[in-house]
Amino acid sequence: MEIIQPKDNYSYVVENLNKICYNINVLKSRYRNDNDIIKTMAVTKTVAPQIVNIAVENGITLLGENKVQEFVSKKSFYYQCAEIHFIGHLQTNKVKYIINDVSMIESVDSFRLAKEIDKQAFKNNKTMDILIEVNIGDEETKNGVQYSNVKDIINEISMLDNIKVKGLMAIPPANAGEDMYFKLQQLFNEIRDMKISDTDISVLSVGMSNDYETAIKYGSNIIRIGTALFGKRI
Ligand SMILES: *Cc1c(COP(=O)(O)O)cnc(C)c1O
Repeated sequence: MEIIQPKDNYSYVVENLNKICYNINVLKSRYRNDNDIIKTMAVTKTVAPQIVNIAVENGITLLGENKVQEFVSKKSFYYQCAEIHFIGHLQTNKVKYIINDVSMIESVDSFRLAKEIDKQAFKNNKTMDILIEVNIGDEETKNGVQYSNVKDIINEISMLDNIKVKGLMAIPPANAGEDMYFKLQQLFNEIRDMKISDTDISVLSVGMSNDYETAIKYGSNIIRIGTALFGKRI
């Protein structure tokens, strides 16, 4: 007789996802246009692939990866139907390990890194979508391009043939006021309206578990959720 193995109960992931969806729906009807699309990314750091897959089974179509090594060890266990963005600090010598497995690199913070992504994308016969990570709070401890340098670096990176700049990513400081989200949204709108050739500025990735409400209010279209979906990281 076949014995059904007991399984861990991951229903909390489904409940969390339902809550997040409900909140996004309320926020969207309050602050945004009907035809805006706000994508919810599941940030997978430290989370076992089988738990990530619960989120995918229940409607998540975008995963966010922080660490190259962790991603490489987990990727074959993911359901292969979700799109994957790289969102962590990326060393130039590691670009080659992810170039064929992610559809976007959100954490580009230097021309040097962009040049390496361009080189690897060329080698692999593709164009890589990227976001510029902005250090919007001007924090010494955080990665990202300084606010005042963002336009220049986009102009420079837009010249690279195998890269497409799609927009901005940011992690505002924990204590940031709404003015900082507004400032980021204004920068995003300015860059979009510059219509720099060979760019397609359409993505603003901001908002995590603790600030996605504010981020949605100020134009985010990718919110990156870890804790609120999978629970506290150990
Ligand atoms: C960890 C992480 C997140 C998710 O953070 P939570 O607060 O757990 O939702 C989002 N973006 C980046 C870049 C991260 O490293």
